[in-house]
Amino acid sequence: MRFDYDDQNIFAKILRGEIPNKTVLETEHTLAFEDIAPQAPVHVLVIPKGAYVSYDHFARDASDAEILDFTRAVARICEEADVEAGFRAISNARAHGVQEVPHFHVHILGGRPLGRMLERG
Ligand code: 5GP
Repeated sequence: MRFDYDDQNIFAKILRGEIPNKTVLETEHTLAFEDIAPQAPVHVLVIPKGAYVSYDHFARDASDAEILDFTRAVARICEEADVEAGFRAISNARAHGVQEVPHFHVHILGGRPLGRMLERG
């Protein structure tokens, strides 16, 4: 699979500081910030600073250090956010996954019961 990264996507602009964001956590390889249109009381987006299009791209090509940093950042966000009662981590990819922003991100959603994972159909 070939992954073509578009450096004009909105998260690339956030990483370059061209668009403001409400940062939750920043580490060497990872940035986490509030979703602009939250779908739950907790709705944080976690993104690598590297140019990866989707989860499978990141999982295949990122360095061990990037993957470790990203994963530990998720743990810190869950620790610090109000998700002790539970949360959902979602990563949409490409057309069938209805991915809007083509820079890999994980949504961390929580703070209320989230219902079933998928509607049938
Ligand atoms: P996707 O559908 O690609 O998984 O999710 C993209 C997410 O990015 C959406 O939940 C959307 O609300 C969020 N988003 C889009 N543009 C911006 C922005 O400029 N700032 C922030 N903080 N979130 C954004």
